[in-house]
Amino acid sequence: MRTAFLSDIHANLTALEAVLSDVARQGVSQVVCLGDIVGYGPQPRECVERVMEEAAHCVLGNHDYYAVFGRTILRGLREDVADGIAVARNLLDERHLEQLRQLPISVRCGEVVCVHASLSDPQAFPYIRTGKDAREHFENQRSPLGVIGHTHIPQLWEHMPSRPRELKVEEGWLELQPETQYLANVGSVGQPRDGDPRACYLIYDDSAQTLLWRRVLYDTQTTAAAMLALGMPEMSAARLAQGV
Ligand code: ZN
Repeated sequence: MRTAFLSDIHANLTALEAVLSDVARQGVSQVVCLGDIVGYGPQPRECVERVMEEAAHCVLGNHDYYAVFGRTILRGLREDVADGIAVARNLLDERHLEQLRQLPISVRCGEVVCVHASLSDPQAFPYIRTGKDAREHFENQRSPLGVIGHTHIPQLWEHMPSRPRELKVEEGWLELQPETQYLANVGSVGQPRDGDPRACYLIYDDSAQTLLWRRVLYDTQTTAAAMLALGMPEMSAARLAQGV
């Protein structure tokens, strides 16, 4: 069975729809969302609704958390982050906020454990960038495969007794070895930061034991224009075309 893992949609409906169309062509049985449905982008409401329709499971991201508990938290946030949260709080109804409030911090689906940032301290949303960060996560991962988002950078780690080894994320299906633990960062649908502006998501095939990172072209200008129309920061709009 194939599962599509989507993360960091960030209220970018054009990117989300492009990804969902691609998912529909890949023989995928279920969609799982790894959080950050809202923040940065112009369509938080539509994105929450689409994810709730499409995803079998969804976990809480830090931006979803800010949107729900924004009043007390907003002051400490960077301007572009705070702006995205303010837009989300304006456009979301209580019904959407309640849906975000109900999201679990992590979920196990089959052999896969899903969390937005890291199992080392899920509620604090730490970033996994280095082997040391990945090791702290692996200390709490019991399942063969963990999937995360949060950094917006597609990455794959293999658990080694000394220090996790980072494997190269390449095009095409990547085979997983038996008796080995992995941690995959699925990349970002709505705001990729690895220099490739195309929307990114991950497919896991549990019978073949393979992973595939998909890149999907979408019109970044449509999203950027919608952001500027809402008075969102130009920097947030401009970064989409560059994938940074
Ligand atoms: Zn994010």
